[in-house]
Amino acid sequence: MSLLENAREMAGDLARLRQDLHTEPELGLHLPRTQDKVLAALDGLPLEITTGDALSSVTAVLRGGRPGPAVLLRGDMDALPVTERTGVPYSSRFPERMHACGHDLHTTMLAGAARLLADRRQDLAGDVIFMFQPGEEGWEGAKVMIDEGVLDAAGERPIAAYGLHVLSTVLPGGLFTSRGGPMLAAADALTVTVRGKGGHGSTPHLSVDPIPAACQMVTALQTLVTREFDVFDPVVVTVGAFHAGTAGNIIPDQAVLELTVRTFSDTNRAKIQKRIIELLMDTGAAYGLTVDAAFGRGYPVTVNDPEESAFAGDVVGDLLGADRYLIAPRPITGSEDFSYVLEEVPGAFIALGACPPHLDPATAPFNHSAEAMFDDAVLPDGAAIYAGLAERRLAMAE
Ligand SMILES: [Zn+2]
Ligand SMILES: [Zn+2]
Repeated sequence: MSLLENAREMAGDLARLRQDLHTEPELGLHLPRTQDKVLAALDGLPLEITTGDALSSVTAVLRGGRPGPAVLLRGDMDALPVTERTGVPYSSRFPERMHACGHDLHTTMLAGAARLLADRRQDLAGDVIFMFQPGEEGWEGAKVMIDEGVLDAAGERPIAAYGLHVLSTVLPGGLFTSRGGPMLAAADALTVTVRGKGGHGSTPHLSVDPIPAACQMVTALQTLVTREFDVFDPVVVTVGAFHAGTAGNIIPDQAVLELTVRTFSDTNRAKIQKRIIELLMDTGAAYGLTVDAAFGRGYPVTVNDPEESAFAGDVVGDLLGADRYLIAPRPITGSEDFSYVLEEVPGAFIALGACPPHLDPATAPFNHSAEAMFDDAVLPDGAAIYAGLAERRLAMAE
């Protein structure tokens, strides 16, 4: 039987696992129930399994029957603090917890791939690392797993790494898409505190008012983006929060701004951070204010290796047909901590349309929405693509 036929035979099991995960979502780095379900799904397979220390990850290594290098496949496992409103019978049992980004599908497809590849182990020309990762949604779970050694789990660094991500909208169900180069943005956050001297609203000359200067900062940030950055290497700066003051006749001591900054190249990422800090400090100084602002570490740009991305397209074409793959015309402004893996290992991050057939992908609720829905029908094909990527990439290296 072909890989695809084997995968499609597992459709019922995959849907049951996905719905079981969906019913009991967990947040952050510690997902004990999810980890138990993954371990149960892998039970009996010829895998070397280790679990994380600082997070409830599962790393499984499958040793191929023939010698060769290693390939890494990654699926993330965590949910979001959202109260589900899809109305599906397997909806989350918990308020403010939902698999609204479809990571339950990734976990399921990766477990399916482990089973498919275990069945073909004798013909596998090398090893496969299965990276079941908690804490993608802002917790840097991939970074923690790298620090705990996932990239060396098979003994040597993998030659390639692949990750799949489902989308509840935009793409029709079953369509895979990727591109060489930047696939997703870097996302950096900044909190800015503009400090002045409070006083009476009637005597501003006796105070140092942070509000007009903070307003200028907001508009100057937009000018900065349009005047100093190439439009073909986009930068997005959004001031999503602005807090200052309590009443119309009181000048407050401070104003606080919160920003998100999205970039698609390391050059622009470094440049916009430097220029934002300079602009905020200089504007503050011009008005006699002090400014506290320092960028923390956000997720880097997710950069696909052009050859690995093209290879992924070939695998989808060979296994499912050329009409199931689309070269993404542009990157997505979301971000991913799989970027940390792709900084170490060449590979590709691939999006998979999972919009249910009764919804229109042009208008269906987006990932992270309380109404986001993902179609179980994509699970067998997704599992087959994960498995096919590993099997063929190892064969290619022979
Ligand atoms: Zn997400
Ligand atoms: Zn996600």
